[in-house]
Amino acid sequence: MGPGGIERLAMSEAEAASVPVRTAADRLTIAIVGGSLRSASILRLLSEVENIDVAAVACQNSSAPAARLAEDVGVFVTRELTEVFQIPGLDLIIDMSEDPVTHAALESQRPESVEMIGTNGSELVWDLLVAKKRGEEQEKLFVELQVAYDKIRSHERRLQSSKEALERANEELESRLAEIFFTHEFFKALTSFSSVDDVCSLIVDGANGILGAEISVIYLFDRDSWTFRLRACQGRSEEAFEPIVAVSDTVLGTAFRDGALQEPDVPSESPSAAWMRQGDQPRSHAAVPLRTGDHVIGVMAVGSATYRELMPAEMERLQVIANQSSLSLQNALLHEELERLSVTDRLTELYNHGYFQQRIEEEVGRASRFEHDLALIMLDIDGFKEFNDTYGHPRGDKVLQMVSDVIKQNLRDMDIAARYGGEEFVVVLPETDAGGALAVAERIREGVAACECAVGEGVQPVHKSVSLGVASFPDDASTPARLIEAADRAMYVAKREGKNRVKVAGR
Ligand code: GH3
Ligand code: MG
Ligand code: MG
Repeated sequence: MGPGGIERLAMSEAEAASVPVRTAADRLTIAIVGGSLRSASILRLLSEVENIDVAAVACQNSSAPAARLAEDVGVFVTRELTEVFQIPGLDLIIDMSEDPVTHAALESQRPESVEMIGTNGSELVWDLLVAKKRGEEQEKLFVELQVAYDKIRSHERRLQSSKEALERANEELESRLAEIFFTHEFFKALTSFSSVDDVCSLIVDGANGILGAEISVIYLFDRDSWTFRLRACQGRSEEAFEPIVAVSDTVLGTAFRDGALQEPDVPSESPSAAWMRQGDQPRSHAAVPLRTGDHVIGVMAVGSATYRELMPAEMERLQVIANQSSLSLQNALLHEELERLSVTDRLTELYNHGYFQQRIEEEVGRASRFEHDLALIMLDIDGFKEFNDTYGHPRGDKVLQMVSDVIKQNLRDMDIAARYGGEEFVVVLPETDAGGALAVAERIREGVAACECAVGEGVQPVHKSVSLGVASFPDDASTPARLIEAADRAMYVAKREGKNRVKVAGR
Protein backbone atom coordinates (compact mmCIF):
# COMPACT_ATOMS: atom_id res chain seq x y z
CA MET A 1 0.00 0.00 0.00
CA GLY A 2 1.36 3.36 -1.03
CA PRO A 3 1.50 6.67 0.84
CA GLY A 4 -1.82 8.53 1.03
CA GLY A 5 -3.67 5.20 1.36
CA ILE A 6 -5.05 3.67 4.50
CA GLU A 7 -2.75 5.66 6.78
CA ARG A 8 -4.43 8.77 5.52
CA LEU A 9 -7.83 7.36 6.43
CA ALA A 10 -6.57 6.58 9.87
CA MET A 11 -5.51 10.17 10.54
CA SER A 12 -7.10 11.58 13.63
CA GLU A 13 -9.22 14.68 13.31
CA ALA A 14 -6.64 16.74 15.13
CA GLU A 15 -4.01 15.67 12.64
CA ALA A 16 -6.38 16.31 9.78
CA ALA A 17 -7.14 19.78 11.11
CA SER A 18 -3.43 20.56 11.28
CA VAL A 19 -3.12 20.18 7.46
CA PRO A 20 -3.67 23.76 6.36
CA VAL A 21 -4.85 23.52 2.76
CA ARG A 22 -6.21 20.56 0.93
CA THR A 23 -5.89 20.42 -2.82
CA ALA A 24 -7.77 18.22 -5.25
CA ALA A 25 -4.66 16.01 -5.30
CA ASP A 26 -5.13 15.32 -1.60
CA ARG A 27 -8.50 13.75 -2.26
CA LEU A 28 -8.65 10.02 -2.39
CA THR A 29 -10.72 8.51 -5.19
CA ILE A 30 -11.95 5.03 -4.46
CA ALA A 31 -13.87 2.30 -6.24
CA ILE A 32 -15.58 -0.53 -4.43
CA VAL A 33 -15.86 -3.92 -6.01
CA GLY A 34 -18.60 -6.28 -4.77
CA GLY A 35 -22.25 -5.67 -3.92
CA SER A 36 -22.56 -7.32 -0.49
CA LEU A 37 -24.06 -5.76 2.61
CA ARG A 38 -20.49 -5.26 3.82
CA SER A 39 -19.70 -3.28 0.64
CA ALA A 40 -22.79 -1.18 1.19
CA SER A 41 -21.68 -0.44 4.76
CA ILE A 42 -18.19 0.51 3.63
CA LEU A 43 -19.74 2.72 0.96
CA ARG A 44 -21.90 4.47 3.55
CA LEU A 45 -19.02 4.97 5.98
CA LEU A 46 -16.61 6.18 3.31
CA SER A 47 -19.09 8.59 1.78
CA GLU A 48 -19.27 10.36 5.15
CA VAL A 49 -15.51 10.84 5.23
CA GLU A 50 -14.22 14.17 4.10
CA ASN A 51 -11.66 14.05 1.28
CA ILE A 52 -12.80 10.67 0.04
CA ASP A 53 -14.74 10.28 -3.14
CA VAL A 54 -16.29 6.91 -3.75
CA ALA A 55 -16.34 7.15 -7.52
CA ALA A 56 -17.85 3.76 -8.44
CA VAL A 57 -19.29 0.52 -7.20
CA ALA A 58 -18.74 -2.48 -9.44
CA CYS A 59 -20.87 -5.56 -9.00
CA GLN A 60 -22.62 -8.19 -11.12
CA ASN A 61 -26.02 -7.85 -9.51
CA SER A 62 -27.57 -4.42 -9.87
CA SER A 63 -30.03 -5.15 -7.03
CA ALA A 64 -27.25 -6.06 -4.56
CA PRO A 65 -27.28 -3.88 -1.42
CA ALA A 66 -24.15 -1.92 -2.38
CA ALA A 67 -25.48 -1.27 -5.91
CA ARG A 68 -28.80 0.02 -4.55
CA LEU A 69 -27.16 2.26 -2.02
CA ALA A 70 -24.76 3.59 -4.67
CA GLU A 71 -27.71 4.56 -6.82
CA ASP A 72 -29.39 6.24 -3.86
CA VAL A 73 -26.37 8.35 -3.02
CA GLY A 74 -25.50 9.08 -6.66
CA VAL A 75 -22.42 6.89 -7.03
CA PHE A 76 -21.71 5.37 -10.39
CA VAL A 77 -22.58 1.61 -10.57
CA THR A 78 -21.13 -0.74 -13.17
CA ARG A 79 -20.90 -4.42 -13.97
CA GLU A 80 -17.71 -3.95 -16.03
CA LEU A 81 -14.42 -4.00 -14.18
CA THR A 82 -12.76 -2.29 -17.11
CA GLU A 83 -14.99 0.75 -16.57
CA VAL A 84 -13.56 0.97 -13.08
CA PHE A 85 -10.05 1.36 -14.43
CA GLN A 86 -11.22 4.27 -16.60
CA ILE A 87 -12.32 6.42 -13.62
CA PRO A 88 -10.14 9.50 -13.77
CA GLY A 89 -7.73 9.94 -10.87
CA LEU A 90 -8.62 6.59 -9.29
CA ASP A 91 -6.33 5.94 -6.34
CA LEU A 92 -7.65 2.82 -4.69
CA ILE A 93 -9.78 -0.22 -5.39
CA ILE A 94 -11.35 -1.95 -2.43
CA ASP A 95 -12.10 -5.44 -3.44
CA MET A 96 -14.96 -6.81 -1.36
CA SER A 97 -15.98 -9.46 -3.92
CA GLU A 98 -14.35 -12.38 -2.08
CA ASP A 99 -14.04 -13.91 -5.52
CA PRO A 100 -10.46 -15.11 -6.40
CA VAL A 101 -11.15 -14.80 -10.17
CA THR A 102 -12.34 -11.20 -9.88
CA HIS A 103 -9.44 -10.47 -7.56
CA ALA A 104 -6.92 -11.96 -10.00
CA ALA A 105 -8.51 -10.01 -12.89
CA LEU A 106 -8.29 -6.80 -10.94
CA GLU A 107 -4.72 -7.55 -9.90
CA SER A 108 -3.62 -8.13 -13.49
CA GLN A 109 -5.54 -5.29 -15.18
CA ARG A 110 -5.23 -2.39 -12.75
CA PRO A 111 -2.99 0.48 -13.79
CA GLU A 112 0.15 0.86 -11.77
CA SER A 113 -0.99 4.08 -10.15
CA VAL A 114 -4.00 2.39 -8.60
CA GLU A 115 -3.60 0.66 -5.27
CA MET A 116 -5.74 -2.25 -4.32
CA ILE A 117 -6.75 -3.88 -1.11
CA GLY A 118 -8.48 -7.17 -0.86
CA THR A 119 -10.71 -8.82 1.71
CA ASN A 120 -8.12 -8.58 4.53
CA GLY A 121 -7.33 -4.98 3.75
CA SER A 122 -10.98 -4.09 3.56
CA GLU A 123 -11.45 -5.63 7.02
CA LEU A 124 -8.88 -3.21 8.28
CA VAL A 125 -10.58 -0.30 6.51
CA TRP A 126 -13.85 -1.42 8.02
CA ASP A 127 -12.41 -1.55 11.53
CA LEU A 128 -10.79 1.85 11.17
CA LEU A 129 -13.95 3.42 9.83
CA VAL A 130 -16.06 1.87 12.55
CA ALA A 131 -13.55 3.04 15.19
CA LYS A 132 -13.59 6.53 13.70
CA LYS A 133 -17.36 6.58 13.60
CA ARG A 134 -17.54 5.38 17.18
CA GLY A 135 -15.00 8.02 18.19
CA GLU A 136 -17.07 10.71 16.48
CA GLU A 137 -20.21 9.47 18.12
CA GLN A 138 -18.54 9.35 21.48
CA GLU A 139 -17.29 12.85 20.92
CA LYS A 140 -20.74 13.99 19.93
CA LEU A 141 -22.16 12.26 22.97
CA PHE A 142 -19.50 13.85 25.11
CA VAL A 143 -20.36 17.32 23.75
CA GLU A 144 -24.04 16.64 24.38
CA LEU A 145 -23.23 15.47 27.89
CA GLN A 146 -21.12 18.54 28.42
CA VAL A 147 -23.98 20.80 27.31
CA ALA A 148 -26.42 18.93 29.54
CA TYR A 149 -24.00 19.11 32.44
CA ASP A 150 -23.53 22.85 31.93
CA LYS A 151 -27.29 23.30 31.85
CA ILE A 152 -27.69 21.31 35.07
CA ARG A 153 -24.89 23.31 36.71
CA SER A 154 -26.45 26.60 35.69
CA HIS A 155 -29.86 25.47 36.97
CA GLU A 156 -28.20 24.36 40.15
CA ARG A 157 -26.51 27.75 40.50
CA ARG A 158 -29.78 29.55 39.87
CA LEU A 159 -31.50 27.34 42.45
CA GLN A 160 -28.69 27.92 44.93
CA SER A 161 -28.81 31.68 44.50
CA SER A 162 -32.58 31.83 44.83
CA LYS A 163 -32.30 29.58 47.87
CA GLU A 164 -29.75 31.98 49.34
CA ALA A 165 -31.93 34.97 48.51
CA LEU A 166 -34.84 33.25 50.24
CA GLU A 167 -32.71 32.47 53.25
CA ARG A 168 -31.50 36.07 53.40
CA ALA A 169 -35.05 37.37 53.18
CA ASN A 170 -36.05 34.94 55.88
CA GLU A 171 -33.22 36.01 58.16
CA GLU A 172 -34.06 39.65 57.53
CA LEU A 173 -37.70 39.00 58.37
CA GLU A 174 -36.77 37.10 61.50
CA SER A 175 -34.49 39.85 62.69
CA ARG A 176 -37.12 42.51 61.89
CA LEU A 177 -39.64 40.46 63.81
CA ALA A 178 -37.29 40.11 66.78
CA GLU A 179 -36.64 43.84 66.58
CA ILE A 180 -40.35 44.66 66.50
CA PHE A 181 -40.96 42.32 69.41
CA PHE A 182 -38.03 43.83 71.33
CA THR A 183 -39.18 47.38 70.54
CA HIS A 184 -42.67 46.59 71.76
CA GLU A 185 -41.33 45.12 75.00
CA PHE A 186 -38.95 48.04 75.33
CA PHE A 187 -41.70 50.67 75.07
CA LYS A 188 -43.90 48.68 77.42
CA ALA A 189 -41.10 48.44 79.98
CA LEU A 190 -40.34 52.17 79.69
CA THR A 191 -43.75 53.05 81.09
CA SER A 192 -43.39 50.73 84.07
CA PHE A 193 -39.87 51.71 85.18
CA SER A 194 -39.74 54.56 87.66
CA SER A 195 -36.16 54.89 88.92
CA VAL A 196 -33.71 56.92 86.84
CA ASP A 197 -31.12 54.13 87.00
CA ASP A 198 -33.63 51.55 85.80
CA VAL A 199 -34.86 53.76 82.93
CA CYS A 200 -31.29 54.60 81.85
CA SER A 201 -30.23 50.94 81.94
CA LEU A 202 -33.31 50.05 79.92
CA ILE A 203 -32.47 52.68 77.30
CA VAL A 204 -28.89 51.48 76.80
CA ASP A 205 -30.15 47.89 76.58
CA GLY A 206 -32.76 49.11 74.09
CA ALA A 207 -30.08 50.67 71.92
CA ASN A 208 -28.26 47.37 71.99
CA GLY A 209 -31.35 45.27 71.24
CA ILE A 210 -32.93 47.52 68.60
CA LEU A 211 -29.84 48.89 66.88
CA GLY A 212 -27.33 46.20 67.75
CA ALA A 213 -25.18 48.96 69.26
CA GLU A 214 -21.86 47.62 70.49
CA ILE A 215 -21.52 50.43 73.04
CA SER A 216 -24.34 52.60 74.35
CA VAL A 217 -24.45 55.22 77.07
CA ILE A 218 -26.69 57.78 78.71
CA TYR A 219 -25.20 61.01 79.98
CA LEU A 220 -27.51 63.31 81.94
CA PHE A 221 -27.15 67.05 81.65
CA ASP A 222 -26.26 68.92 84.84
CA ARG A 223 -27.37 72.53 84.53
CA ASP A 224 -25.40 73.74 87.58
CA SER A 225 -22.00 72.60 86.32
CA TRP A 226 -22.94 72.68 82.58
CA THR A 227 -21.61 69.13 82.21
CA PHE A 228 -22.81 65.68 81.23
CA ARG A 229 -22.71 62.96 83.87
CA LEU A 230 -22.55 59.29 83.02
CA ARG A 231 -25.66 57.53 84.24
CA ALA A 232 -25.76 54.18 82.40
CA CYS A 233 -23.50 52.31 80.02
CA GLN A 234 -23.45 49.04 78.11
CA GLY A 235 -20.82 47.27 76.04
CA ARG A 236 -17.78 48.32 78.10
CA SER A 237 -17.05 48.51 81.80
CA GLU A 238 -17.79 51.83 83.47
CA GLU A 239 -14.07 52.64 83.67
CA ALA A 240 -13.93 52.98 79.86
CA PHE A 241 -16.13 56.11 80.02
CA GLU A 242 -15.44 59.62 81.27
CA PRO A 243 -17.75 60.08 84.29
CA ILE A 244 -18.08 63.83 83.66
CA VAL A 245 -17.85 65.45 80.21
CA ALA A 246 -17.89 69.18 79.52
CA VAL A 247 -20.83 70.18 77.31
CA SER A 248 -18.71 71.85 74.66
CA ASP A 249 -16.16 69.16 73.94
CA THR A 250 -17.50 65.96 72.42
CA VAL A 251 -20.11 64.50 70.08
CA LEU A 252 -22.40 64.72 73.13
CA GLY A 253 -22.09 68.52 73.05
CA THR A 254 -22.68 68.62 69.30
CA ALA A 255 -25.86 66.55 69.69
CA PHE A 256 -26.90 68.79 72.60
CA ARG A 257 -26.64 71.89 70.38
CA ASP A 258 -27.50 70.64 66.88
CA GLY A 259 -29.52 67.44 67.34
CA ALA A 260 -28.82 63.85 66.28
CA LEU A 261 -25.64 63.17 64.32
CA GLN A 262 -23.24 60.40 63.51
CA GLU A 263 -19.52 60.26 62.79
CA PRO A 264 -18.84 56.90 61.13
CA ASP A 265 -15.11 57.50 60.86
CA VAL A 266 -13.82 59.38 63.89
CA PRO A 267 -10.19 60.45 63.43
CA SER A 268 -7.98 58.95 66.14
CA GLU A 269 -7.59 61.12 69.24
CA SER A 270 -10.39 63.39 68.03
CA PRO A 271 -11.81 65.45 70.95
CA SER A 272 -15.21 64.41 69.61
CA ALA A 273 -14.64 60.86 70.94
CA ALA A 274 -13.34 62.00 74.33
CA TRP A 275 -16.47 60.82 76.12
CA MET A 276 -14.58 57.54 76.29
CA ARG A 277 -11.19 57.29 77.90
CA GLN A 278 -7.96 57.28 75.90
CA GLY A 279 -7.39 53.83 74.43
CA ASP A 280 -11.09 52.94 74.53
CA GLN A 281 -12.31 55.62 72.15
CA PRO A 282 -14.73 54.49 69.43
CA ARG A 283 -13.99 54.35 65.69
CA SER A 284 -17.61 55.21 64.86
CA HIS A 285 -20.21 56.91 67.02
CA ALA A 286 -23.58 58.63 66.95
CA ALA A 287 -25.40 60.76 69.49
CA VAL A 288 -28.92 62.00 69.97
CA PRO A 289 -30.29 64.47 72.54
CA LEU A 290 -32.92 63.38 75.06
CA ARG A 291 -35.44 66.23 75.09
CA THR A 292 -38.58 67.10 76.95
CA GLY A 293 -40.16 70.13 75.36
CA ASP A 294 -37.41 72.70 74.90
CA HIS A 295 -35.15 71.15 77.51
CA VAL A 296 -32.34 68.74 76.84
CA ILE A 297 -32.14 66.43 79.84
CA GLY A 298 -29.33 64.29 78.51
CA VAL A 299 -27.67 62.69 75.51
CA MET A 300 -27.69 59.11 74.37
CA ALA A 301 -24.64 57.91 72.45
CA VAL A 302 -23.83 54.68 70.64
CA GLY A 303 -20.41 53.64 69.41
CA SER A 304 -18.36 50.83 68.00
CA ALA A 305 -14.68 49.95 67.95
CA THR A 306 -14.92 49.10 64.24
CA TYR A 307 -16.25 51.16 61.33
CA ARG A 308 -20.04 51.32 61.30
CA GLU A 309 -22.19 53.73 59.38
CA LEU A 310 -25.78 53.83 60.55
CA MET A 311 -28.30 53.71 57.69
CA PRO A 312 -30.91 56.51 57.60
CA ALA A 313 -33.48 54.02 58.94
CA GLU A 314 -31.15 53.19 61.83
CA MET A 315 -30.61 56.87 62.65
CA GLU A 316 -34.39 57.21 62.66
CA ARG A 317 -34.66 54.31 65.09
CA LEU A 318 -32.06 55.92 67.34
CA GLN A 319 -34.18 59.08 67.31
CA VAL A 320 -37.33 57.08 68.09
CA ILE A 321 -35.64 55.37 71.05
CA ALA A 322 -34.51 58.78 72.32
CA ASN A 323 -37.93 60.39 71.87
CA GLN A 324 -39.81 57.56 73.54
CA SER A 325 -37.32 57.34 76.39
CA SER A 326 -37.15 61.04 77.17
CA LEU A 327 -40.60 61.26 78.72
CA SER A 328 -40.05 58.21 80.94
CA LEU A 329 -36.66 59.55 81.88
CA GLN A 330 -38.12 62.95 82.73
CA ASN A 331 -40.77 61.28 84.92
CA ALA A 332 -38.12 59.22 86.66
CA LEU A 333 -35.96 62.31 87.21
CA LEU A 334 -38.94 64.17 88.72
CA HIS A 335 -39.73 61.18 90.89
CA GLU A 336 -36.12 60.99 92.02
CA GLU A 337 -36.06 64.72 92.76
CA LEU A 338 -39.30 64.45 94.77
CA GLU A 339 -37.85 61.58 96.74
CA ARG A 340 -34.67 63.51 97.36
CA LEU A 341 -36.64 66.55 98.49
CA SER A 342 -38.76 64.44 100.80
CA VAL A 343 -35.68 63.41 102.78
CA THR A 344 -33.69 66.64 102.46
CA ASP A 345 -33.63 69.73 104.62
CA ARG A 346 -34.18 72.71 102.31
CA LEU A 347 -31.86 75.19 104.01
CA THR A 348 -28.84 72.99 104.62
CA GLU A 349 -29.26 70.31 101.93
CA LEU A 350 -28.53 67.73 104.62
CA TYR A 351 -30.99 64.92 105.35
CA ASN A 352 -34.01 65.89 107.45
CA HIS A 353 -35.04 64.61 110.87
CA GLY A 354 -37.43 61.99 109.50
CA TYR A 355 -34.82 60.41 107.26
CA PHE A 356 -32.28 60.45 110.09
CA GLN A 357 -34.69 58.55 112.34
CA GLN A 358 -35.27 55.96 109.65
CA ARG A 359 -31.56 55.49 108.99
CA ILE A 360 -30.45 55.36 112.63
CA GLU A 361 -32.90 52.49 113.13
CA GLU A 362 -31.45 50.65 110.12
CA GLU A 363 -27.84 51.30 111.07
CA VAL A 364 -28.25 50.24 114.71
CA GLY A 365 -30.02 47.09 113.47
CA ARG A 366 -27.17 46.32 111.06
CA ALA A 367 -24.42 47.06 113.62
CA SER A 368 -26.12 44.81 116.17
CA ARG A 369 -26.65 41.97 113.64
CA PHE A 370 -23.09 41.96 112.37
CA GLU A 371 -21.49 43.19 115.63
CA HIS A 372 -20.05 46.20 113.87
CA ASP A 373 -19.06 49.54 115.38
CA LEU A 374 -21.36 52.54 115.03
CA ALA A 375 -20.98 56.07 116.41
CA LEU A 376 -23.14 59.17 116.57
CA ILE A 377 -22.16 62.84 116.78
CA MET A 378 -24.63 65.43 118.08
CA LEU A 379 -23.77 69.06 117.34
CA ASP A 380 -25.22 72.40 118.44
CA ILE A 381 -24.19 75.92 117.44
CA ASP A 382 -22.99 77.96 120.39
CA GLY A 383 -24.78 81.22 121.27
CA PHE A 384 -26.93 81.08 118.18
CA LYS A 385 -29.92 82.86 119.65
CA GLU A 386 -27.75 85.86 120.38
CA PHE A 387 -26.27 85.75 116.86
CA ASN A 388 -29.78 85.74 115.37
CA ASP A 389 -30.86 88.53 117.66
CA THR A 390 -27.81 90.64 116.75
CA TYR A 391 -27.43 90.05 113.00
CA GLY A 392 -30.87 88.85 112.00
CA HIS A 393 -32.27 85.48 110.87
CA PRO A 394 -31.00 85.59 107.25
CA ARG A 395 -27.39 85.83 108.49
CA GLY A 396 -28.21 83.09 110.99
CA ASP A 397 -29.32 80.96 108.04
CA LYS A 398 -25.94 81.55 106.36
CA VAL A 399 -24.23 80.25 109.51
CA LEU A 400 -26.42 77.16 109.42
CA GLN A 401 -25.34 76.60 105.78
CA MET A 402 -21.69 77.19 106.63
CA VAL A 403 -21.81 74.63 109.46
CA SER A 404 -23.52 72.05 107.22
CA ASP A 405 -20.88 72.59 104.51
CA VAL A 406 -18.12 71.94 107.05
CA ILE A 407 -19.92 68.77 108.16
CA LYS A 408 -20.25 67.56 104.53
CA GLN A 409 -16.57 68.17 103.89
CA ASN A 410 -15.61 65.87 106.74
CA LEU A 411 -17.78 62.88 105.86
CA ARG A 412 -17.21 59.60 104.05
CA ASP A 413 -19.78 58.32 101.53
CA MET A 414 -21.35 55.94 104.02
CA ASP A 415 -21.84 58.58 106.74
CA ILE A 416 -25.28 60.13 107.18
CA ALA A 417 -25.53 63.78 108.26
CA ALA A 418 -28.87 65.37 109.11
CA ARG A 419 -30.32 68.54 110.54
CA TYR A 420 -31.76 67.29 113.80
CA GLY A 421 -33.75 70.47 114.33
CA GLY A 422 -33.18 74.24 114.73
CA GLU A 423 -29.38 74.71 115.02
CA GLU A 424 -28.68 71.11 115.98
CA PHE A 425 -27.13 68.53 113.70
CA VAL A 426 -26.47 64.84 113.92
CA VAL A 427 -24.03 62.55 112.09
CA VAL A 428 -24.29 58.75 111.93
CA LEU A 429 -20.91 57.05 111.39
CA PRO A 430 -21.20 53.34 110.50
CA GLU A 431 -18.17 51.10 111.09
CA THR A 432 -16.69 53.75 113.41
CA ASP A 433 -15.80 53.52 117.12
CA ALA A 434 -15.76 56.34 119.69
CA GLY A 435 -12.14 57.20 118.91
CA GLY A 436 -12.81 57.53 115.15
CA ALA A 437 -15.92 59.62 115.78
CA LEU A 438 -14.00 61.88 118.19
CA ALA A 439 -11.46 62.59 115.44
CA VAL A 440 -14.24 63.48 112.95
CA ALA A 441 -16.01 65.66 115.54
CA GLU A 442 -12.78 67.47 116.32
CA ARG A 443 -12.18 68.20 112.63
CA ILE A 444 -15.71 69.60 112.30
CA ARG A 445 -15.24 71.77 115.40
CA GLU A 446 -11.97 73.15 114.05
CA GLY A 447 -13.45 73.67 110.59
CA VAL A 448 -16.38 75.70 111.93
CA ALA A 449 -14.17 77.73 114.24
CA ALA A 450 -11.90 78.61 111.31
CA CYS A 451 -14.75 79.97 109.17
CA GLU A 452 -15.48 83.65 109.00
CA CYS A 453 -19.15 84.65 109.07
CA ALA A 454 -19.91 87.87 107.21
CA VAL A 455 -22.26 90.02 109.30
CA GLY A 456 -22.51 93.25 107.27
CA GLU A 457 -20.63 95.66 105.09
CA GLY A 458 -17.77 97.40 106.84
CA VAL A 459 -18.24 95.15 109.87
CA GLN A 460 -15.55 92.65 110.91
CA PRO A 461 -16.68 89.05 110.19
CA VAL A 462 -17.28 86.96 113.26
CA HIS A 463 -16.35 83.38 114.12
CA LYS A 464 -18.89 80.91 115.40
CA SER A 465 -18.27 77.71 117.30
CA VAL A 466 -20.05 74.44 117.89
CA SER A 467 -20.27 71.99 120.78
CA LEU A 468 -20.30 68.30 119.99
CA GLY A 469 -21.17 65.10 121.83
CA VAL A 470 -20.04 61.63 120.72
CA ALA A 471 -21.63 58.31 121.69
CA SER A 472 -21.02 54.84 120.32
CA PHE A 473 -22.84 51.56 119.93
CA PRO A 474 -22.93 49.25 121.81
CA ASP A 475 -20.72 50.73 124.59
CA ASP A 476 -22.96 53.70 125.41
CA ALA A 477 -26.37 52.44 124.32
CA SER A 478 -28.11 49.44 122.76
CA THR A 479 -31.05 51.21 121.06
CA PRO A 480 -31.28 54.17 118.66
CA ALA A 481 -33.13 56.33 121.20
CA ARG A 482 -30.58 55.62 123.93
CA LEU A 483 -27.72 56.33 121.52
CA ILE A 484 -29.20 59.73 120.62
CA GLU A 485 -29.73 60.50 124.32
CA ALA A 486 -26.13 59.55 125.15
CA ALA A 487 -24.73 61.81 122.39
CA ASP A 488 -27.06 64.62 123.46
CA ARG A 489 -25.92 64.32 127.10
CA ALA A 490 -22.28 64.39 126.04
CA MET A 491 -23.00 67.54 123.97
CA TYR A 492 -24.55 69.26 127.00
CA VAL A 493 -21.48 68.35 129.02
CA ALA A 494 -19.46 70.15 126.30
CA LYS A 495 -21.79 73.19 126.66
CA ARG A 496 -21.43 73.17 130.42
CA GLU A 497 -17.68 72.89 130.24
CA GLY A 498 -17.45 76.06 128.15
CA LYS A 499 -18.66 75.25 124.57
CA ASN A 500 -16.49 74.95 121.38
CA ARG A 501 -15.42 71.46 122.38
CA VAL A 502 -16.11 67.75 121.88
CA LYS A 503 -17.21 65.42 124.67
CA VAL A 504 -17.33 61.65 124.40
CA ALA A 505 -20.10 59.89 126.36
CA GLY A 506 -18.87 58.22 129.52
CA ARG A 507 -15.48 59.94 129.47
P1 GH3 B 1 -26.32 77.55 123.29
O1 GH3 B 1 -24.99 78.13 123.06
O2 GH3 B 1 -26.53 77.10 124.70
O3 GH3 B 1 -26.65 76.52 122.32
O4 GH3 B 1 -27.34 78.75 123.12
P2 GH3 B 1 -28.13 79.06 121.83
O5 GH3 B 1 -28.51 80.42 121.78
O6 GH3 B 1 -27.40 78.56 120.63
O7 GH3 B 1 -29.35 78.08 122.02
P3 GH3 B 1 -30.90 78.34 122.01
O8 GH3 B 1 -31.53 76.98 121.99
O9 GH3 B 1 -31.23 79.21 123.14
O10 GH3 B 1 -31.23 79.04 120.67
C1 GH3 B 1 -31.35 78.37 119.44
C2 GH3 B 1 -31.68 79.35 118.38
O11 GH3 B 1 -31.55 78.87 117.09
C3 GH3 B 1 -33.10 79.83 118.49
C4 GH3 B 1 -33.55 80.07 117.09
O12 GH3 B 1 -33.81 81.40 116.79
C5 GH3 B 1 -32.36 79.66 116.27
N1 GH3 B 1 -32.82 78.95 115.13
C6 GH3 B 1 -33.42 77.74 115.07
N2 GH3 B 1 -33.69 77.41 113.77
C7 GH3 B 1 -33.23 78.44 113.00
C8 GH3 B 1 -33.20 78.70 111.60
O13 GH3 B 1 -33.68 77.89 110.74
N3 GH3 B 1 -32.64 79.84 111.17
C9 GH3 B 1 -32.11 80.73 112.06
N4 GH3 B 1 -31.55 81.83 111.58
N5 GH3 B 1 -32.13 80.51 113.34
C10 GH3 B 1 -32.68 79.41 113.85
MG1 MG C 1 -29.99 74.23 120.52
MG1 MG D 1 -27.18 76.46 120.47
